Amino acid sequence: MRLPAGFSFLRSGRQFSGRSAELKRAGSKAGSQAFGGTPGHLRPYHVLMALTDTERRLCDLVKARSDLLLKQLAEHVAIPTGRNYTPGLDRYRDLLAERLSALGAVIKHMPGEPRPKWLETPGESSVGPSIPPTLVAKHRVDSTTPRILIVGHLDTVHDPEDSFCELTVSSDGKIATGPGAVDMKGGVLIAVTALEMLAEAGVELNWTMLLNSDEETGSFHSEAALREAASEHDLGIVLEPALADGALVIERVGSGQFMVEVFGRSAHAGRDFTKGVSAVNKLAEIIIVLAQMARPPSGTVVNVSPLQGGQVTNTVPDYAAAWGNVRYADAEAGTRLGSAIDGLATADDALPRVVVHRCWNRPPKPTTEAVRGFAEAARAVAEDLGPAHRGLPFASAGGVCDGNNLQDAGLATIDSLGVRGGNLHRNDEYVEVASLVERCQLLAALLARLAQGRAHIPSERDPVTAVGRAGRR
Ligand SMILES: [Zn+2]
Repeated sequence: MRLPAGFSFLRSGRQFSGRSAELKRAGSKAGSQAFGGTPGHLRPYHVLMALTDTERRLCDLVKARSDLLLKQLAEHVAIPTGRNYTPGLDRYRDLLAERLSALGAVIKHMPGEPRPKWLETPGESSVGPSIPPTLVAKHRVDSTTPRILIVGHLDTVHDPEDSFCELTVSSDGKIATGPGAVDMKGGVLIAVTALEMLAEAGVELNWTMLLNSDEETGSFHSEAALREAASEHDLGIVLEPALADGALVIERVGSGQFMVEVFGRSAHAGRDFTKGVSAVNKLAEIIIVLAQMARPPSGTVVNVSPLQGGQVTNTVPDYAAAWGNVRYADAEAGTRLGSAIDGLATADDALPRVVVHRCWNRPPKPTTEAVRGFAEAARAVAEDLGPAHRGLPFASAGGVCDGNNLQDAGLATIDSLGVRGGNLHRNDEYVEVASLVERCQLLAALLARLAQGRAHIPSERDPVTAVGRAGRR
């Protein structure tokens, strides 16, 4: 029997989508790859689940706000929040805190942790000195409905002094270009709006919105706040942009940062050349070794940049340094790569002496049973919303985000429920205007379904699920 899209069923606490849950290829993002078909145990069951009256009402409320969404996005994009620009971050944070507080949330500003000093690269001198706080807005209604953590970042990668500083809508009205429009001011806006619409429709939900200000630089300041929040919730949503075709990323690699410092001995290049020990030459050897550690086909990437070494041409350099980024497919590959890089360090009295610093700050984010169940629930909502929402294809990505850290802290998280757009981190970053309403509807309806117990998802911390998982694979 074949049933149309939008049919789904709750069974043993797990929801399956009515459509063949084939994972589609992620089109736009570098490092993305396709999955195979649906595993046998996830074959769908078919029972009608159409939108409820509440979900329909939410969609209407969002639709009625479409002009306001674009107007507010323009206001938010015009607030510069790149490169730890404190006045802009404070203004944007205050504006959102006010809206969340009006919904009855308790507002907290969690102080940030310092970032390791060695991470500061020579080109990063424009990063402001202050450590931004993380905004945590907590709204609680009861102890029975799931606690949902919604995470967004206020910072962008854009220079606050740059001329690319406001939202410009194309002549056909289809796209709007501006710094952070899609990554992720659009995502933050639709989430706050969705929460407002839920309140207006009388849907009660335990939610927390966490907004940090340093995601683009690795979330070092907000890591502790993210982990603490993860431990207090049942499901996590991160508002990173969808992939270009609207795909939801359900699997991410791990990522880390490193720095290699070399200490040699300086000498005049003409008079005492042989007395010198060149830190630059030693670093060059090390860079070749690092480059050979990369295994792109199996997901291990080692990128060395930037470099520093010596000051003038006629002195043997006594200091050189290289920074770099790694990506790896799973925890085991991360450990192996870490040991190999640590192995470059020398004894303290060696000459030249090599010192290694590293921090694997974004652990890999595999597709767990709970993540799969949560993603299927989101897909079921997308299908129920109709063909304009294009379903919700699944993808994996070579990029990393706060979803990696939340899931590492034990919270089942789906992390690209933000808006659609493209050219992230470039001076032509844009959002698809229609996606503001569409993705806000998706989020609002998904949250309503979670609040009303219509989307049962296995818990990451549920021992029954863990046994089931171990038995199947
Ligand atoms: Zn982002």
